[in-house]
Amino acid sequence: MALIEASGLSKTYRAGDVDVPAVRGVDFSIDSGALVAFIGPSGSGKSTLLNMIGCLDRPSQGSLRVLDTDVGRLNGRASAAFRGAHIGFVFQDFNLMPVLSAAENIEYPLLMVQRWSVERRRARVAELLEAVSIAEQADKRPDQLSGGQKQRVAVARALATQPRLVLADEPTANLDHDSAYRIITLMKKMRDEFGTTFIFSTHDPKIVGEAEEIFSLEDGRLIKQEGAVR
Ligand code: ADP
Ligand code: MG
Repeated sequence: MALIEASGLSKTYRAGDVDVPAVRGVDFSIDSGALVAFIGPSGSGKSTLLNMIGCLDRPSQGSLRVLDTDVGRLNGRASAAFRGAHIGFVFQDFNLMPVLSAAENIEYPLLMVQRWSVERRRARVAELLEAVSIAEQADKRPDQLSGGQKQRVAVARALATQPRLVLADEPTANLDHDSAYRIITLMKKMRDEFGTTFIFSTHDPKIVGEAEEIFSLEDGRLIKQEGAVR
């Protein structure tokens, strides 16, 4: 089943009195359970594409369906609700709360889900700590963790509410090669375990690693699509 379908998808930013075309008419479809890499040099449109899929930005033209919803038509409040219900995010600079422990950072999104009991929250956090192999660091704060460990916590946090889709914009840009590779491997493991669809971006061809589908972008165009029909 296609989780995401883009057709003639474009985004043009207005900077002063010039139009900046960031994404220029791309067509693609991404299946549920896929592990996809958007790869391309800086400025090729990776973030813009991820932001549109994540309902953080709206298409200028074309159509974009995510989970059978025409996300280009969602207004601000509806897109926030859609994100909250279906999408997890992982960031380049981890974005963990510095005063919270690893476990508390993972629990944080669950505190917004009012109907969960304390016990259910604890069980979910424990499961995720285990899944991302960070259980021994559960009580440590971000400044006591390595970059790779921080990003593992961030992946667990993104998965806390069991979203269908996790978007990660350059999640490995601040990691050494080994840690970067391990994060991508972790995404694959989480995909296998929870069925979550993962899309990440990178400008580094070396870390595409375990991605099963690679979308190459250049100047806002999808110039190559490799991999998978799973
Ligand atoms: P990447 O993530 O691959 O580096 P981006 O999607 O950030 O690429 O940017 C694609 C193009 O769109 C670049 O030329 C960038 O300068 C431009 N762009 C991105 N965001 C904005 C914005 N908010 N306003 C104006 N131009 C933007
Ligand atoms: Mg970017």
